[in-house]
Amino acid sequence: MSIQRALISVSNKNGVIDFAQFLVDNNIDIISTDGTAKLLIENNIPVIEVSDYTRFPEIMAGRVKTLNPKIHGGILARRGIDEDIMAQNNIKPIDLVIVNLYPFQATIAKTDCTLEDAIENIDIGGSAMLRSSAKNYTSVTVIVNNTDYQKVMDEISELGNTTLETRAMLALKTFEHTAMYDGAIANYLGKNKNGFSNTINLQFNKAQSIRYGENPHQKAAFYVESNLSESCLASSIQCQGKEMSYNNMADADAALECVRSFNKPCCVIVKHANPCGIAIRNNINNAYLDAFKTDPTSAFGGIIAFNRVLDKNTAQNIIDKQFVEVIIAPSVQTQAKQILSTKQNIRVLECGNLNTAKPSLDYRRVTGGLLVQDKDLGIITEDDIKCVSDLTPTKDQIEDLLFAWKVAKVVKSNAIVYAKNKMTIGIGAGQMSRVYSARIAGMKATDADFIIDSCVMASDAFFPFRDGIDSVAQAGIKAIIQPGGSIRDKQVIKAANEHGITMVFTGMRHFKH
Ligand code: 5GP
Repeated sequence: MSIQRALISVSNKNGVIDFAQFLVDNNIDIISTDGTAKLLIENNIPVIEVSDYTRFPEIMAGRVKTLNPKIHGGILARRGIDEDIMAQNNIKPIDLVIVNLYPFQATIAKTDCTLEDAIENIDIGGSAMLRSSAKNYTSVTVIVNNTDYQKVMDEISELGNTTLETRAMLALKTFEHTAMYDGAIANYLGKNKNGFSNTINLQFNKAQSIRYGENPHQKAAFYVESNLSESCLASSIQCQGKEMSYNNMADADAALECVRSFNKPCCVIVKHANPCGIAIRNNINNAYLDAFKTDPTSAFGGIIAFNRVLDKNTAQNIIDKQFVEVIIAPSVQTQAKQILSTKQNIRVLECGNLNTAKPSLDYRRVTGGLLVQDKDLGIITEDDIKCVSDLTPTKDQIEDLLFAWKVAKVVKSNAIVYAKNKMTIGIGAGQMSRVYSARIAGMKATDADFIIDSCVMASDAFFPFRDGIDSVAQAGIKAIIQPGGSIRDKQVIKAANEHGITMVFTGMRHFKH
């Protein structure tokens, strides 16, 4: 059966005029709601207004427009079964439904949105028509997204109707859309005092399949937030290289979120979700060279991120110095792209200009549940730190301490970061004991031939005992930044004073697991 009657009711009217003209050219009658009908008539496209069709006016400022048995009966009718009842009630079949909903998500995203605005932007009749059409997809074609206009036009041109396969695909898209729409409403209305909804309706769309997960026997895919609005891994465009793997994505994200937190040109090299070198410099070339020096062994096969445009000198230095899996930067100069194209396997991604991280939620799956927390956006400045030792930090030490502290935030706990002149010289990550993290940071610094004397150190959490301080004093650390707050703080401060170490407290912890 060819399509004879269509209903169009759209808030987003992009592309609808051409599409409607196509329907008219193919002898398909159009029924339409108030605003959509006006637009089409203005463009000389003949339509029947819903209120004329149902002989019932649109009422209550549009709240009730299409909620009528002539509409829903026409959509839901089982073809070949319901013809008698349709004839008795003067219901004609509607075979094509084009609806997109009131812009609820865009409305609540506005800073001045009131509860009333939000409520008025909950679409009722549109959702109902979408669901009716999608339920009856064996007979009805439903379009919820104008990117599908072309496909439907092509099929109608060729066959007079769409294929069952296309209708099934469009129905699935429709239910995904209405589920997402209702999820956004529930998330908005359910927000309670601590900002979390009573239930979480995750708003993610599958962006791509991934060849496998963390290990080859695990299936995997990448899902992207439905209302993505910031430059990040999920918004990145890959310019060259092999397909991104699951681990590549996780590490590229860790790397990008690390460089995002620095205002000056910064480079980080990440391996297994931890940085193995970070530096901030006057340009990213110097930042890269110094980030690499921290731990050249671990940098092999690493993921490199920058917070500035990648230039040709830096690109050349990277390929001269190391094997690299992924490079991600806000953008990549054309000449840098040419240099990198000599190594076709390197994955190169452009993410767009990086702004400071926006408040958002972090999710962690546990068996049978989901842990949800605010993203760790805690930052401190010089004004927030409190000197607790006899010695006070010099200006240079303060800068290095604040640098090391920012790095410690992105290192897995227990995190110990040795730094000097705004570059890391040793990072101890992910150990179960703080003393071992400190030892590892020291070993790495020594292995890379750094002189630890006059370095600073950051610890993501407090020292429970003085042994950590004793051990880093031997290594030559001269200043420490840490949250404080241990019941043994007095002994820890005493140890610092005995060793002539300057110590400052942040009052903020940065566990990361
Ligand atoms: P128009 O601009 O054509 O006047 O309105 C189009 C919008 O109305 C579409 O977004 C459609 O989903 C919505 N809509 C259609 N029927 C109804 C209804 O009966 N009630 C409500 N609240 N919205 C409807």
